[in-house]
Amino acid sequence: MNKPDIAIIGAGMSGLVAASSLQKLGFTPTVYEKSAVLGEVGAGLTMAPNATHALQFAGMTDALVKHGMSPGRGGVKHWQTGKLMISLERGDELREKFGASYYHIHRADLHAALAAKVLANDAGAIHLGCDFKTLHQDGSKVTVEFASGERLNADVVIGADGVRSGVRAALFGEDQPRFTGYIAFRGLVPFDALPPGIIDPPSCLSTGPDRSFTRYLIRNGQVVNYVALAQRDGWQEEGWSIPATVDEVLQEYQGWYEDVATIIRATPDGSLFKWALCDRATLPAWTQGRVTLMGDAAHPMLPFLGSGAAMAIEDAVILARAFDCSDSIEAALQRYFVARHERTAWVAQKSREAALNYHSGRSEHYEPSKHLTAESLGIWAYNPAKVPI
Ligand SMILES: Cc1cc2nc3c(=O)[nH]c(=O)nc-3n(C[C@H](O)[C@H](O)[C@H](O)COP(=O)(O)OP(=O)(O)OC[C@H]3O[C@@H](n4cnc5c(N)ncnc54)[C@H](O)[C@@H]3O)c2cc1C
Repeated sequence: MNKPDIAIIGAGMSGLVAASSLQKLGFTPTVYEKSAVLGEVGAGLTMAPNATHALQFAGMTDALVKHGMSPGRGGVKHWQTGKLMISLERGDELREKFGASYYHIHRADLHAALAAKVLANDAGAIHLGCDFKTLHQDGSKVTVEFASGERLNADVVIGADGVRSGVRAALFGEDQPRFTGYIAFRGLVPFDALPPGIIDPPSCLSTGPDRSFTRYLIRNGQVVNYVALAQRDGWQEEGWSIPATVDEVLQEYQGWYEDVATIIRATPDGSLFKWALCDRATLPAWTQGRVTLMGDAAHPMLPFLGSGAAMAIEDAVILARAFDCSDSIEAALQRYFVARHERTAWVAQKSREAALNYHSGRSEHYEPSKHLTAESLGIWAYNPAKVPI
């Protein structure tokens, strides 16, 4: 097939990985992003070996080495005693087993590196301030309309516009994401602000009744990223940058072992945010004509297996490969869907189940052999750069 003109809506994780991967395979995609600037937003992301393979395919090997933090060891601690109940290998053995490393990385660092890569390949590839409004298609072209009234024509449109995707709404109708009852507090604490010895092992999940507290190192070990998950009724606010207070988080973790409160108390002003965890029913289809969905737009994931960004990034690489090895747009979109739908629906379901596993209060009688992780489920044993499609 002639190289189609591919428009990607959303310059988030999946949009930029798709752009870079398509460029590598000789395509010239264009990305349209709502934000006027690509700024420093968000906090830490987990990149397990399956995601690392995808990022390496997209040209991010150096960026991972530069900005990623490989913890070496991880573990699960008891919420009251702080006792290490499970020890997890997160270093060389893991790399040998899966052929790629496990990293923690600041979303902003990865995002900036991806944007730089895409722009180095094609300086005109990313258009900012383009707020997708709707689209129309006639069988050979797709016309996209932005909130500004501007329009564009493309052969193919990929909706990579996140959990509140407008492209998904344009294809399948409005269905608001469902608030799951969980909120995530995200804090960034300078490592030096903490007493020595408490960040051991370097990556750690503490699990207790209705709550969990995960913390790991990013930015060359200088920053501790934590995610404190709690449950709430009737959450209304939306966005990635809603400020939270230290007192608000401390209140949720009363009765937990002291290190948790020590880390929360050390959070500087302006480094603590909260957001709602939203879910959606699994879509039976992602594609209509020449438009498809990718990442959170297609399948939002709860964070309990640390696999949301990984699934989005895997999608992006498979989509690029599908275009590369198909002889029509329709065949490429079908190949992509077949390769991705079952896996992402399964991981989404397992992420919901993991929420119960972490928050059921079972740490009183914790059974390490039943601890549900992306590794034990086999999620990491997938290489999107090589898996047959
Ligand atoms: C600003 C931001 C910060 C985040 N921080 C974290 C974090 O710290 N930790 C974490 O685990 N996850 C975070 N996430 C979510 C995480 O990146 C995604 O869940 C995951 O990477 C899936 O990627 P995605 O490409 O599907 O969506 P995203 O990475 O969410 O990207 C979606 C992109 O689409 C753009 N967009 C949305 N609507 C429109 C529109 N109408 N027109 C054009 N563009 C549009 C968004 O601005 C965004 O750039 C963050 C997401 C965002 C947008």
